[in-house]
Amino acid sequence: MSCVKTEGAQPADGGRDGLDFNPYDIMEPRAPGKTPRAMQNGARVKSSNVAPQGVYRPDYSILTPHMRSPEYVQMSTAAAITLGVTDGRMYRCSCTRCLNLLLTYPEGCRANCAYCGLARHREAERDYADRNFIRVDWPAVPMDVIVDKVATNEREGGPGSPFHRMCISMITHPRSDDDTVAVLKKWTSRIDPETIPVSILSNPTTMGRADVQRLKDLGADIFTVALDAATPEIFDRTRGKGVQSPHKWDKYWEVLLDARDIFGPEKFGVHIIVGMGETEHDVLRLVQRIVDLGGHNHMFCFFPEDGSLMDHLPATPRDQWRRVQLGRYLIDYRDARVDHMTFDDQGRLMDFGLPGGELDDIIDSGLPFRTSGCPGKVQEDVSACDRPYGDSPPSDIASYPFALERKDVKKVRKQLGIPHRLV
Ligand code: SF4
Repeated sequence: MSCVKTEGAQPADGGRDGLDFNPYDIMEPRAPGKTPRAMQNGARVKSSNVAPQGVYRPDYSILTPHMRSPEYVQMSTAAAITLGVTDGRMYRCSCTRCLNLLLTYPEGCRANCAYCGLARHREAERDYADRNFIRVDWPAVPMDVIVDKVATNEREGGPGSPFHRMCISMITHPRSDDDTVAVLKKWTSRIDPETIPVSILSNPTTMGRADVQRLKDLGADIFTVALDAATPEIFDRTRGKGVQSPHKWDKYWEVLLDARDIFGPEKFGVHIIVGMGETEHDVLRLVQRIVDLGGHNHMFCFFPEDGSLMDHLPATPRDQWRRVQLGRYLIDYRDARVDHMTFDDQGRLMDFGLPGGELDDIIDSGLPFRTSGCPGKVQEDVSACDRPYGDSPPSDIASYPFALERKDVKKVRKQLGIPHRLV
């Protein structure tokens, strides 16, 4: 039985110092600066108190209106286009299948995660509702408008609704738990969660087991925890005390295990960002741990978000990203195990531990390289949440928000260092 190995692929995107991975030493975030008191906690927006007029498109040149959840939520640009509240087109994909809703407040998120465009240290630079997040703007829309549009579409179009799933993204804010409940109740009062299931992207820092249970009882389908960092050290450096942020690795795990108990197998998962200084072995060990617990892994390729504390650092080289993407898919969906894979002394994945023909077929399917996330209505290993260009520019796609074509697979194979089959 022969196994397919990566063949020392050339760094496709020129990792720093010619490396084909992002090592821990170089992935150090900047220290956050001080925000003048007069700019803290959304003071400018609150003191001006401009009343919102329907949909608000982020525009840094005008005063941001005073918008709050649960009356208002923000949504990704792709979701806003799909819902029909804003114009636009996405490269090679017509719409998104997931309606991502983000809680919003003038005070914004009170955490300071180093890779995130929503982080607190930006208070003086940009009002919360104007901040970029995973590379795009997030228009703010009244929750009533959203529910009305989706319910009408469901009534008239039935299963033809463009959305296969809705997701509520919590942030770190004292109102976040109660307002997540309010948004969920508003949704389920008009839309059957069996028709469009709901995921919760949680904020464990403010939550306890009873909060997790409450969301399950109200009809949430999947509960995810954004660990984001693959190791406790990177967690602390990027979203804990290293950047004056309140999150704690142990607390995230406590809520994750609560979710495992309450939501059950296949109904909980984690988010992991690849390329923040962990090794490939670190990530895939974590992936295996989650799968062994009964959950799934949703992966993001590190991208230096404008305005974040890591915007000076290199994006994850495609070589590292593709190896981890493929390894994750095999563990999540094809019963592969990390202990059957081989890693070099720098923790790089060298051998996937599968017979060549089997691995070839999986690569050629393109499935491992699509955006990972909660499933939609197509198949278990195709995510509803496609986040178009959330972790890369369209010119150098990291997570494909559409089914790969032959030319895409060819490019991926080159990045992996696994040549295309001759037959
Ligand atoms: S808690 Fe979430 S939204 Fe807030 S800064 Fe961290 S990653 Fe961004």
